[in-house]
Amino acid sequence: MALSEFELIQNCFAEQAAASLRSDVRLGIGDDCAILSPRPNHDLLVSVDTLVAGVHFPESISPYQIARRSLAVNLSDLAAMGGEPAWFTLALTVPEANESWLREFSRGLFDIANQFGINLVGGDTTRGPLSITIQVQGYAPAGQALRRDGAQVGDLVYVTGSLGDAGAGLALALLGNIDEADYLVSRFLSPTARIASGLALRDISSAAIDISDGLLADLGHILERSQVGAVLQADAIPLSPQLRQAVGDEQGFELALSAGDDYELCFCVPPEKSDKLASIAEQTGVPLCQIGVITAEKGVSVLDENGLSMSLPLTGYQHF
Ligand code: ADP
Ligand code: MG
Repeated sequence: MALSEFELIQNCFAEQAAASLRSDVRLGIGDDCAILSPRPNHDLLVSVDTLVAGVHFPESISPYQIARRSLAVNLSDLAAMGGEPAWFTLALTVPEANESWLREFSRGLFDIANQFGINLVGGDTTRGPLSITIQVQGYAPAGQALRRDGAQVGDLVYVTGSLGDAGAGLALALLGNIDEADYLVSRFLSPTARIASGLALRDISSAAIDISDGLLADLGHILERSQVGAVLQADAIPLSPQLRQAVGDEQGFELALSAGDDYELCFCVPPEKSDKLASIAEQTGVPLCQIGVITAEKGVSVLDENGLSMSLPLTGYQHF
């Protein structure tokens, strides 16, 4: 017999959520609201993102992968602001109450949730075309969250990890390759929210953003909010060996600048604080790579190895 909506929520979400309840959750799933008791002297960071099937992920990927990716991209917004994950809610719209689908979705969701110590405290379940809305909440000590609007002329511009992998992975996924063992595909399907990097950068970085729409587009948001510009060195932009091997340097470079979905961080650091970065990279296991510098002149230019300004692909992902 098919399970009722109530039983499905109970089986797929409530039990798993209750299994590892944080001490700052007074009441989790099951009532009209969750009751949360936030830590004193902290700000709450709140962000919500919707992923629509066929728009934000190919419909061919599994419910396990959909759930992992959905939570990871939301956690990435916390990472970008130096947030420590605390709680999330899930508004799930599914075409049908398919128990095996929901179980796989739940497995992916709690995989990531438990990894980052974030608790599912409520949600909503409705019927319709598949879409996943997750709202995350996290902590930063009062006044210490990273923002987009703090970059200063002379700051150094950095990125975490490597860029362009997920763009190539998405192209492969759209061709039907959804094999997690393939490095590029896994970088699209299972982006790693750079939470540890974001936390370590709180005291050091002047401005930060996560790269969801491509380096140029997202760095552009920092520049706009901070009223500055940037000059980047093309050969400093980190490309993975796997990306270079799959598409070559030139296309790899284009993907790094313009493809989205990497969910690495782009951040600015005053030069006098940059000596702290080596130990952060070592402690987090995530490389930090200087790619350029903030300038008073607005806009972004990218210099080739001869110091000449390159012509650039125009934009990152546009939603509308
Ligand atoms: P209400 O009608 O009061 O909004 P619901 O019947 O929608 O309550 O949900 C009952 C409980 O189950 C609530 O605590 C709600 O937060 C939780 N819930 C519903 N759907 C989900 C979901 N997809 N994930 C997590 N919790 C959910
Ligand atoms: Mg109610």
